[in-house]
Amino acid sequence: MEPCPVFIGGRWFTPDGLPTSPVHNPSTGEVIAECPLGDAALVNAAVQAASDAFPVWSETPPIERARIFFRYRQLIETNFDKLCKLVSREHGKTLSEARGDVYRGMENVEYACGAPTLLMGDTLENLARRVDCETVLQPLGVCAGITPFNFPVMVPMWMFPLALVCGNTFVLKPSEKVPLSAVLLIELLQEAGLPEGVLNLVHGGRESVDTLLTHPTVRAISFVGSSPVAKYIHETGTKHGKRVQANGGAKNYIVIMPDADMPKSIEALATAAFGCAGERCMAGSTAITVGAAADKMLPSLTEAAKAIRVGRTDIEQQPDMGALISAAHRDRVVSLIDGGADQGAKVLCDGRGVKVDGAPNGFYVGATIVDQVASEMTIAQEEIFGPVLNVMRTDKLDEAIELANRSAYGNGAAIFTQSGHAAREFKHRVKAGMVGVNVGVPATVAMFPFTGWDASFYGDLHIQGKEGVQFYTQQKVITSRWFGSEVEDVWRK
Ligand code: NAD
Repeated sequence: MEPCPVFIGGRWFTPDGLPTSPVHNPSTGEVIAECPLGDAALVNAAVQAASDAFPVWSETPPIERARIFFRYRQLIETNFDKLCKLVSREHGKTLSEARGDVYRGMENVEYACGAPTLLMGDTLENLARRVDCETVLQPLGVCAGITPFNFPVMVPMWMFPLALVCGNTFVLKPSEKVPLSAVLLIELLQEAGLPEGVLNLVHGGRESVDTLLTHPTVRAISFVGSSPVAKYIHETGTKHGKRVQANGGAKNYIVIMPDADMPKSIEALATAAFGCAGERCMAGSTAITVGAAADKMLPSLTEAAKAIRVGRTDIEQQPDMGALISAAHRDRVVSLIDGGADQGAKVLCDGRGVKVDGAPNGFYVGATIVDQVASEMTIAQEEIFGPVLNVMRTDKLDEAIELANRSAYGNGAAIFTQSGHAAREFKHRVKAGMVGVNVGVPATVAMFPFTGWDASFYGDLHIQGKEGVQFYTQQKVITSRWFGSEVEDVWRK
């Protein structure tokens, strides 16, 4: 069993007497660690440590704070393979997908290294005669991050590097399903020279989250997870006077026009739907075909899906797709496919009951394509978060856009076409915050905000980019006038 310690005030320890939750290797179903579920006392201690560290850290020059993150970036690169293997082992995604997770996380560290520039304010001389005005960005205080299971490195890295370079201190509460990657991430940051108490790690579920949401010292909460929890986090956090950014779930639509470059579109669609076994908030989980696109695309897409090899990701010989996070999640995905079939949809490629040699207890579902899905079916409404592509058929682009816009979510949407007009209509009219044109997964990278809409985001300032800097700082506007007789005389002349 691997240790799963917390990190509070610069000290690693495994708390005594707390209930635990098993961490699995999804490839085999084996339990690899026990995650301690933090209670109020543990979380209070972490917030206190962060609060104690704030006065010195917030006065540390931004360039010095950034220097720690330059070293951190180097350490991530040196430990890249180790991090990827750990992500793969506790999450189940393939090594190549884990590399994407770590790489995207590292880009957020690179962005945060620009702190001295990112934190610059504006000035205007002579706002009125001899009156100057300047803005400065100051940190908030103690911030907290609560993260989901599906990107064990990237999502925590959306939060703490930027929060810290902005001068805040931080408490991270990663998913109890994948806590080990967070442990390694913080060990590396400690090695990079982060002072004690600046970043603290607690584990747990609802009790630990509620303690952060209601703690009077915590000034801001960043959350990523499912929509019902995101809504709850936003409501509870704001009620307790905190700034909150809460990313929720998604249901993303990919429109395929009949004039699309079919081979390239099919390849991109398969990656969007089945990459990371569909456990991505930007997964292209529904293809909306227009006119003849369905018949042009489906035979090759079905063939491609059937060729996807599912298997263990914790061994050298890598498959194309790994396991889902848990047995319960696998069963939910299977029951949603069952429900779609019962309600009249047609399963063209069926990943239910897939078997992997030597891993009878792994949490597997193979690539699945469900055709002729109608909007009233449960499978069309709920986020599946598995390797399942719904296909909905329409006759016209207008109808496709209208169908996509009926969704309660608004994370991502994409169109595959060679028509500038169709692309322009789609990108202008579709109700989603991240839009792709011939790009299946238009997830934004570190320099841009992650702009979910509707039930995919609760809050005002999004995660990442300049909005991320705004979220983790408060602006002060200073208006100054200095009296001096010589200057006064010049003015009077
Ligand atoms: P989840 O909502 O179950 O858990 C997320 C975090 O919230 C975890 O740390 C968990 O411990 C905590 N949590 C769970 N239930 C809670 C409750 N009742 N009260 C307080 N805290 C609670 O999400 P998950 O299953 O870990 O992750 C998958 C979900 O995350 C999917 O819906 C996916 O779309 C979403 N997601 C969204 C984005 C985005 O940027 N929009 C990115 C990644 C994942």
